[in-house]
Amino acid sequence: MIYFDSAATLPLRKEAGEAYLSESLAHFGNANSPHAFGRESARSLERARKGILRLLGIEGTHRLLFLSGATEANNLALKGVARAYRSRGKRIISSSGEHESVLEPLKALAKEGFDVVLLPLDAATGTIRLEDLGAALDERTILVSLMAVNNETGAITPLQEVCELLRGHPKCYLHSDFTQGAFKGLPYPYGTADLLSMSAHKFGGPKGTGFLALRKDVLPSPLMEGGGQEEGLRPGTSDVPSALASWKALGLAKGEEKEAIRRASSIKAKILGYLSSRPEDFLVNSPEGGSPFLLDFSLRHKKASVVEEALSLRGIYVSTTSACSSRRDLPSHVLLAMGRKEEEARNAIRLSFSLLNEEEDAPKFISALEDIMKETIDSL
Ligand code: PMP
Repeated sequence: MIYFDSAATLPLRKEAGEAYLSESLAHFGNANSPHAFGRESARSLERARKGILRLLGIEGTHRLLFLSGATEANNLALKGVARAYRSRGKRIISSSGEHESVLEPLKALAKEGFDVVLLPLDAATGTIRLEDLGAALDERTILVSLMAVNNETGAITPLQEVCELLRGHPKCYLHSDFTQGAFKGLPYPYGTADLLSMSAHKFGGPKGTGFLALRKDVLPSPLMEGGGQEEGLRPGTSDVPSALASWKALGLAKGEEKEAIRRASSIKAKILGYLSSRPEDFLVNSPEGGSPFLLDFSLRHKKASVVEEALSLRGIYVSTTSACSSRRDLPSHVLLAMGRKEEEARNAIRLSFSLLNEEEDAPKFISALEDIMKETIDSL
């Protein structure tokens, strides 16, 4: 098997699974229980919280909420901040290339009366233009939400420059969906954003776990009511095993970062070389200087779903657009936001790499793709 879908999810790391199991079996106390056994779980939860903040280098500035994943983190960041700070202003700025878990909450907020501005993506860089952001920012802007790394193209948002721009707007918070960014070689410190969403299964932690890191002064409104866990922002019995497993997985991801970048870069360069040598068949959508872990391209004469299926029959697993939207057979909203034609946006293949891949996967993929390009009849 060649798994080129690491941006969709990764397997649970063995050490993370062991941490999960040992905590679930031996230390199963409720972190809210007042007795010593419960207090032990509460201490484990706090150890995991601090450990994650420390790994991200933001323990002095941010706090951390354990949630069910990046979808929940994005919902809480956007709706929670918008509703809590609506008296300051109603403008929220984001981009049309964000993940659905950002775009859908923004749609809901627009219905609540917020003035949501979605910036287009630049065709060459795949990210927003800073001058567009500068023009959209005004004194009513309370929140800017921009993903660190685009989950389809790998385009990197210049968050540090965004942060500079926001210096003149002290009442505006910066949220970043960091789901594809954690320990993927990003050049800026993670503390740049006031709020950061992450998902554990993208770095080998358990599925259904994620977190929101928030700068200490940011106080969003809760989306749910219940017990007071997670500062009252995520009521419900704490999932201590998942918190510990996520901490473990994040530490391992950090340790592997350099080698992962090296291997992904090498695989990407080889495949990119092949795609670029066949401009009549392929249109590369990933920008230069983007994440080494993602490579997106459109098929000029074939249906992406047909090629994806043919690859799958050969044991090569790729995505058409992102895993979250590919089943709907819609054109990629990210590619449309970059100004690609509907046909190009509908026939895109996304490859995503990790240490699950070997260097030889690149030539094997190229030769399978070449065969498929010859075999399948042109379908467009
Ligand atoms: N944001 C981005 C950029 C993603 O890639 C994903 C996962 N596809 C999510 C958010 C949602 O993450 P989760 O599965 O943890 O809800």
